[in-house]
Amino acid sequence: MSKDTSTTEMPLANGTLPALAEADWPEFLPGWVWMVGGGPGDPGLVTLHALNALQQADIIIYDALVDQSLLRWTRPDAEVEYAGKRGGKPSPKQRDISHRLIGLARQRKRVLRLKGGDPFVFGRGGEEAQTLVQAGIRLRIIPGISAGIGGLAYAGIPVTHRDVNQSVTFLSGHDRTGLMPSAIDWHAVSKGSQVIVMYMAIKHMPDICSKLLAAGRDPDEPVAVVKNATRADMQVLETTLTKAHADITKSGIGAPAIVCIGRVALMRQCLDWIGQIEGEPVRDLDPLGVRAVSETG
Ligand code: SAH
Repeated sequence: MSKDTSTTEMPLANGTLPALAEADWPEFLPGWVWMVGGGPGDPGLVTLHALNALQQADIIIYDALVDQSLLRWTRPDAEVEYAGKRGGKPSPKQRDISHRLIGLARQRKRVLRLKGGDPFVFGRGGEEAQTLVQAGIRLRIIPGISAGIGGLAYAGIPVTHRDVNQSVTFLSGHDRTGLMPSAIDWHAVSKGSQVIVMYMAIKHMPDICSKLLAAGRDPDEPVAVVKNATRADMQVLETTLTKAHADITKSGIGAPAIVCIGRVALMRQCLDWIGQIEGEPVRDLDPLGVRAVSETG
């Protein structure tokens, strides 16, 4: 790879250097917190900014769903701290995590807050970042690939497809109390959302499905449940709205999982590229039944 004097060296594991302009590699200054998206699992899905952050941070505070292999890219002397639930102990309160970040930043550390997926998608990143700003801490946000988009892509499911949807609704299957979110108007979601992508929804699936069915959603509508998306142990369940709960129970598939409701889920029959790499045949070249095999445009 050619490199000119305007680039900063950022060695990758295999020794290659991405040749970006110096301004594109921000320097992690002491006393700052960088909130970084760790992506859904596969370490190759983090951004170059995330890699740059990992290579400079003094301390990394990471969440439960972050893939541990990302921590290989930290400096050898960097500290690594887990902020999730561990060993049966209750998970630390959001306030405690925020206070820890503020305390470390005030000690002039370069603090990397590593969160699963994208920090601002159902990850409390917004609250955490707000607390930092309120405390006068300087902040940089590095987005990540969210499980509800990239995770579905690994299952061969495009979150939009011209023949299915011009809109997507992302929703959380439980609120801060662990109950089904009371603010969601299921009737409106059912009527207005061609594709529904749900995070943290496994626990309340029976209720969610009955609410959608009661609001007039097609009982045979395709549903895909993707557990551990993008990881080596990814599992995918293909079912329908009426059968979803029974099939989830029968298969034992559980959290962390993304649930996708909508006809885009059928596309997996054609686009299950991981299955195809592993030698499985394409099940259907036109799962939506609308496109001749050679049709484009
Ligand atoms: N900020 C994250 C979401 C955090 S909420 C993001 O953008 O992806 C946690 C929920 O995300 C999990 O309960 C699950 O529904 C989903 N999730 C995160 N990683 C996942 C993965 N690898 N596979 C499937 N679901 C995942």
